[in-house]
Amino acid sequence: MELTRLRGFRDLIAADARAMSLVEERARAIFDRYSIKEIRIPVLERAQLYQRSSGETSDVVEKQMYTFTDRDEGETVVAIRPEGTPGVVRAYIEAGLDRTDPEQRFFYSGPMFRRERPQKGRYRQFYQFGVEVFGRQDAACDAELLIMIDELCRDLKVPFTMEINSIGDQKCRPAFREALVKWGRAHWDELDEDCHNRIDRNPLRLLDCKRDAKVTESAPNSLDFLCDECRAHFDIVKELLTAASVQYVVNPRMVRGLDYYTRTAFEVMAGGLGAQSTVVAGGRYDGLVETMGGAAVAGIGFAIGVDRMALALEAAGELPTVTPDAAIISMGAAATRHAVVVARSLRGANLNIEMLSPERKMKTLLARASKIGARFAVIIGDDELARGVVQLRDLKQSTQREVGEAEAAALIAGARG
Ligand code: ATP
Ligand code: MG
Repeated sequence: MELTRLRGFRDLIAADARAMSLVEERARAIFDRYSIKEIRIPVLERAQLYQRSSGETSDVVEKQMYTFTDRDEGETVVAIRPEGTPGVVRAYIEAGLDRTDPEQRFFYSGPMFRRERPQKGRYRQFYQFGVEVFGRQDAACDAELLIMIDELCRDLKVPFTMEINSIGDQKCRPAFREALVKWGRAHWDELDEDCHNRIDRNPLRLLDCKRDAKVTESAPNSLDFLCDECRAHFDIVKELLTAASVQYVVNPRMVRGLDYYTRTAFEVMAGGLGAQSTVVAGGRYDGLVETMGGAAVAGIGFAIGVDRMALALEAAGELPTVTPDAAIISMGAAATRHAVVVARSLRGANLNIEMLSPERKMKTLLARASKIGARFAVIIGDDELARGVVQLRDLKQSTQREVGEAEAAALIAGARG
């Protein structure tokens, strides 16, 4: 077969797709309870949007973005979105909300595209479910989002750990950055080429490159540099998490490499994923809206990596299987016409029903009913049709009895766990 899918792109079939949808459904339900409104934004944007927001020193923008020139748009270079935040911030500013009604909370969901080396949990098309909150500077807002993430992970029954940190603000971060540059120069020989480039361009990311290697153990720690305001903010976040019984670990080496990030940064790691274990990442970005041409409005957000969360869910054995309650088997044209009506009324009673092909033999159909995991087969032939009954076959216990249609519905429903 020549027309195969592209490297790093996936087909999600049945259970795999179901796991993704489940993560999205649960997230949506919880976000509703936190009064977060949905926002849908384009998949295609000006490439400049991402250059402006994520800067030229981010790997995503420098190396991973899919771009092309759109002839129709006056030769504009456009990008297929690699992340959600820039588009949401653009939409927020473009709608004038930063000036008219700055306090907003949004969630978005959908595919993102990054040309990176595919691995388990790392794809070129992947899905994010993200939240952006604007106009809130207070630590209670940070805590509320973390509590919400904790709730979602518990709800999904995925084993997880939450790490938090504070990276300071425009006032105290310069000293931290200076210290990192100094440290980077002193440890030049232990760092790889990527990190050599980072020393001048983006020293915070020195901590990113070899996070679990020994090298960064001697690096300066962001918490040692916090000013009083940033320290107080971080203390409140921690207090509120403790009050809400949220378990977290402070990781003073976790950073965000972009200038608009301030104060709280966080990540959630899930088990069963190997190297790609980060399933949620986010932080406060008080400088972003202004950087993108809007008013000076605070912001904080995060994104759930839906693909990885779905993998974690499957690894934890927490993906409920959805099988039909009953398969309907009909014999003959008249019985099949009636079977369609019976199927509809059973579905009306909230049962999951799969009608099997009327063109196969009984033996084949019973085997098929078992294969799809149906608990019962509802068998209808001309004789049953004439008498207004069905043969209800319990495929688990291999028993069969003749019952009225209404009784069949009650028995099937009653056998549900
Ligand atoms: P990583 O360090 O794993 O590359 P990142 O810093 O690039 O992650 P973010 O841009 O913060 O990730 O995106 C938030 C989340 O989206 C990640 O924590 C991860 O769960 C998910 N994610 C990011 N890139 C991919 C990808 N290529 N495939 C699958 N999921 C991804
Ligand atoms: Mg990445």
